[in-house]
Amino acid sequence: MPATSMQDLVALCKRRGFIFQGSEIYGGLQGIYDYGPMGVELKNNLKAAWWRAMVYERDDVEGLDASILTNRLVLRHSGHEATFVDPMVDCRKCKSRWRADQLKDGKCDKCGATDLTEPRPFNLMFKTTVGPVADDESFAYLRPETAQGIFTNFKNVLDATSRKLPFGIAQIGKAFRNEITPRNFIFRVREFEQMELEYFVMPGVDEQAHKDWVARRLAWWQEQGLTSNHLQLFHQPAEDLSHYSKATTDILYHFPHGVEELEGIANRTDFDLGSHSKKPEELGLSAHVLPNADSVTKLTYRDLDSNKDIVPFVIEPSAGVDRGVLAVLCEAYTEEAVGDSTRIVLKLKPHLAPIKAAVIPLARNKPELVDVAQQIKNSLQKLGLGRVLLENTGNIGKAYRRHDEIGTPLCITIDFETVEQSPASASVTVRNRDTMAQERVLVSELASYFQEFYSQT
Ligand code: ATP
Repeated sequence: MPATSMQDLVALCKRRGFIFQGSEIYGGLQGIYDYGPMGVELKNNLKAAWWRAMVYERDDVEGLDASILTNRLVLRHSGHEATFVDPMVDCRKCKSRWRADQLKDGKCDKCGATDLTEPRPFNLMFKTTVGPVADDESFAYLRPETAQGIFTNFKNVLDATSRKLPFGIAQIGKAFRNEITPRNFIFRVREFEQMELEYFVMPGVDEQAHKDWVARRLAWWQEQGLTSNHLQLFHQPAEDLSHYSKATTDILYHFPHGVEELEGIANRTDFDLGSHSKKPEELGLSAHVLPNADSVTKLTYRDLDSNKDIVPFVIEPSAGVDRGVLAVLCEAYTEEAVGDSTRIVLKLKPHLAPIKAAVIPLARNKPELVDVAQQIKNSLQKLGLGRVLLENTGNIGKAYRRHDEIGTPLCITIDFETVEQSPASASVTVRNRDTMAQERVLVSELASYFQEFYSQT
């Protein structure tokens, strides 16, 4: 059974060091979270799995790491300044503020009153100032999506790599949105990470490419352990589409708080490359916006068949890292009856597990056990499969409980037999997280056992 209550999950995340409230000792900051020792490993593993699938395992995608601070003109030309808004209402009774489309039956979520103001647009972008003078000229935005950094670098990447269509540019990075009502733990936050691919295609093949990417992305989430009965597709109705989209299909996940978006796959057409290639007046923007309006960079592609410059269409699979971490945790969270007690175990896919193996000396104060454990840890760590932890607490029961709760697939126990046997026959106990089965494995065969285990999962 996956987690059915967010409270259980939030408690586990705090107790075991996955996720903490940001600025917690000063009362927190709403919609901001920090990832702890286990959280950072899980998050990095999820991002690495995405990068492997989207960049390394393909031959038509390049990577990018663009800056977060963005010239305001980028977001003016992209349409975000004018349209990246949510409808905001105030409750006249208790003075709280809400996103209008998230309220049930038009009632204030706090006091239940129906006396609300008319919805008015609220722009979600964070502003800051760049340089020592804070005036109208010096403000910049924190990017609200990583995508614009990809579009504005389209020509740079094309020139540097000589790619032919179709090809993609992938990026993982922070995005910021001043959400009116952040909620549901790390589901809706103000600072988050996105994993985005912009896949450029010839106009005309965009609809097929869109369908292909939806299928690929759905399959990828299943490879991260999300079961098909907790995933569903949602084709956004025309009236809900973002300003840049011709069609968007969302991948929804059955979170404990409801069935909600995990990833959106949009057909952004030639909107963004086109908008950045146009003069301000062509977009209805005031002429002073671009100081050097004649030098607009044309973000086009030379089609050698027609010998014309064209603006490619783009398909964008855009996934939230934090929502991905939440979905993977919800899916993995399991409570099992073992004898008279309940075991909490995170049945994470092994490639996502924060700790790949814990090496545990049976007793703490026995240097001979700790020495062997340290050597085993070092040799497994060198295999490069992720973090291997020497767990020198001396309490094997507690160590197993902890490693079940953080989802460590293998625990390796070093006991007196291990050190008393001759090196050729020395063995350890390996315990499997999911089955709790224990088996003796020769120390000399441990590295290949470990590699074999991770190559199958
Ligand atoms: P929503 O409708 O839930 O506000 P959205 O449709 O605005 O999301 P997109 O602009 O499509 O989201 O962003 C792509 C992905 O980025 C989303 O599928 C989600 O995983 C993630 N994301 C967007 N906003 C947030 C947020 N405030 N907190 C966490 N993740 C987010």
